[in-house]
Amino acid sequence: MIKAVVGANWGDEGKGKITDMLAEKADYIVRFQGGANAGHTIVNNYGKFALHTLPSGVFYSHTTSVIGNGVALNIPILFNEIKSITDQGVPTPKIAVSNRCQIVMPYHILFDQYEEERLGKASFGSTKSGIAPFYSDKYAKIGFQVSELFDDELLSEKIPRVCAQKNVLLEHLYHKPAIDEKELLNTLHEYRDMIAPYVCDVSLLLNNALKEGKTVLLEGQLGTLKDPDHGIYPMVTSSSTLAAYGAIGAGVPPYEIKQIITVCKAYSSAVGAGAFVSEIFGDEADELRRRGGDGGEYGATTGRPRRMGWFDCVASKYGCRLQGTTDVAFTVLDVLGYLDEIPVCVGYEVDGEVTTEFPVTSKLEKAKPVLKNLPGWKCDIRGISNYDDLPENCKNYIEFIEEQIGYPITMVSNGPKRSDIIYRESKYSK
Ligand code: GDP
Repeated sequence: MIKAVVGANWGDEGKGKITDMLAEKADYIVRFQGGANAGHTIVNNYGKFALHTLPSGVFYSHTTSVIGNGVALNIPILFNEIKSITDQGVPTPKIAVSNRCQIVMPYHILFDQYEEERLGKASFGSTKSGIAPFYSDKYAKIGFQVSELFDDELLSEKIPRVCAQKNVLLEHLYHKPAIDEKELLNTLHEYRDMIAPYVCDVSLLLNNALKEGKTVLLEGQLGTLKDPDHGIYPMVTSSSTLAAYGAIGAGVPPYEIKQIITVCKAYSSAVGAGAFVSEIFGDEADELRRRGGDGGEYGATTGRPRRMGWFDCVASKYGCRLQGTTDVAFTVLDVLGYLDEIPVCVGYEVDGEVTTEFPVTSKLEKAKPVLKNLPGWKCDIRGISNYDDLPENCKNYIEFIEEQIGYPITMVSNGPKRSDIIYRESKYSK
């Protein structure tokens, strides 16, 4: 069977920890979309790791880490990530990379930087990892697939064809040096040698595993609100962040995805530009940022401070619906223990009307939060493992949010470690 771990919001909800935890009982952990532009932070017995390409289950010896065809594969980053974890004493992981995966080229990263420079103040807040130029090329059918690295005849025809187009943009739009075709071919040969040991038909691998009754975990990157179709377009990422896309990005049957665990953080954070209705500022934001996550809310890839806000029931209800949520994992709840009162966004006021349905971007930009204050619990809830042992106000906070979003909160995470998890029954479970 397949389980998916995905985000309800803007990313950074704590998916890495939940995946890492569920990986204990999984055989294959699969990345199916996105690239090295976001990261997961994992804390375990080996230390603290920021992963950008490898799935979170890479620390177990019984799992195979899989990079599906839907991923934007940056080969040197993957290569260095494997090296960095083995350097820190983690046993060499089993890794499979799809032969249909496309490759982030050095010029994708340059185009990303040049375009953000060109846009100046109107930029998208890209992490400049080349993801948008990569996916543009994939769908413009001028991308390079891993399988093509092993076909020199194809490369010698394709490289000049692609460079002809890229070099016009480099020269006339960006006024930057042209791509050297020979150098590019050499780079692709290096990429081929780095990736060769891991390449296989991932779809076949996973379908065979499913036939044998194995458990496959799909690990999403970012969250619903960054989906190019259902998110806050154009301030979105360039590949689908929805569990449904797991079927495509890994090459598995959609009906095999039996459990969709949508991760919601107990407060909000976002990176990059775009409307963020429940956003807070000043000292209030600084304090939550400093206390948030495990060591503060700063980007795992970029180190940039995240934008902070209160829990947003409107966005999270929508985020859970689009994922097809069967279970909500409610994370980082321990962080809120310092607050006397905890504001929660329960509606959006748009043009004088209050709604609880998430609007399209042009309306979202006008939305003002309708806040409700819930009483805080004013203590440290880390270490508690039974739901009933949580303070009353803490349970009320969870149950209030569950009712607002209408999806079952079956896991509550009260600390960064694998073991910091509380399971609970929910009347919303099907
Ligand atoms: P992801 O991209 O969704 O995996 O999110 P991040 O990597 O940004 O994870 C959020 C941060 O929160 C990481 O530093 C985690 O170690 C940490 N974290 C995850 N769950 C919890 C939790 O329940 N409590 C606390 N305090 N930190 C957590």
